[in-house]
Amino acid sequence: MKALAINGGAGRMGQTLASGLSALGRFSIAALVDTREPAELFGANYASSWDDVDASTIDVVVDFSSPEGVVASATWCAAHGKGLVIGTTGLSSDQRHVVDDAATKVGVVIAANYSLGAVLSEKFAALAAPYFERVEIIELHHDKKVDAPSGTSIAAAKGIAAARSAAGLSEMIDPTVRHTVSGARGADTIGGIKIHSVRLPGLVAHQEILFGGPGEGLTIRHDSFDRLSFVQGVALAADTIDATPRLIDGIESLI
Ligand code: NAD
Repeated sequence: MKALAINGGAGRMGQTLASGLSALGRFSIAALVDTREPAELFGANYASSWDDVDASTIDVVVDFSSPEGVVASATWCAAHGKGLVIGTTGLSSDQRHVVDDAATKVGVVIAANYSLGAVLSEKFAALAAPYFERVEIIELHHDKKVDAPSGTSIAAAKGIAAARSAAGLSEMIDPTVRHTVSGARGADTIGGIKIHSVRLPGLVAHQEILFGGPGEGLTIRHDSFDRLSFVQGVALAADTIDATPRLIDGIESLI
């Protein structure tokens, strides 16, 4: 049984992970660290600062807090010889440097997406990419999302473009020459891959990668219905990482 401390333990992800990871039966939640008090403790101790965490009770730290929170947890993990799993996004280059430095002292996993289905769909798309002439991506999210297109769709486009390029396929040229309403053909990203963003109430996070070739099509669809979709990927990372210094960037290599 691995004992975890969750930084950002009062947040939406922190609470979902505390519940979801402890339900797996192979992790105990020893500490919830957060600047504000968590609604539920899941048997853990609450600490408002890393100074109040007893390192002897923790095996691995999971961080879904803020970029400033990552700096604190990475520094603490490096000082106390604990593995670190980071899901927090939006790190500056200086903050990322602190993470890279911690990975020279302890094991660190950092990933922008811990959903196994999302990561697998990117792998499948890269596998399919050399065999289809054209590909476009539709990403669909809830109506509170403020950025478009999603980071996940950009990462998928990059992976597909790299696979197309490695297979000697040229950049796709959009056949549309008359735009009756501008924007109808979506956003141009890397390699001529179009991304179309849909925002509607009721959606969570969904993505379709549509391939087209002579006489056939292939659609790879992934749906996140709930924050629970991140639990398995975080568990995989927490299972893997320990104090041995190394950096695992993305969970693709763990699947
Ligand atoms: P949230 O705002 O609900 O929770 C963040 C929590 O962190 C809050 O409780 C806040 O008080 C706490 N916090 C902020 N700064 C802190 C600090 N310095 N020290 C300790 N605690 C601090 O946000 P959320 O939806 O739970 O998301 C948290 C992070 O996880 C975001 O960066 C988000 O983008 C990321 N995220 C990543 C993935 C992934 O798969 N990698 C998935 C979902 C969310």
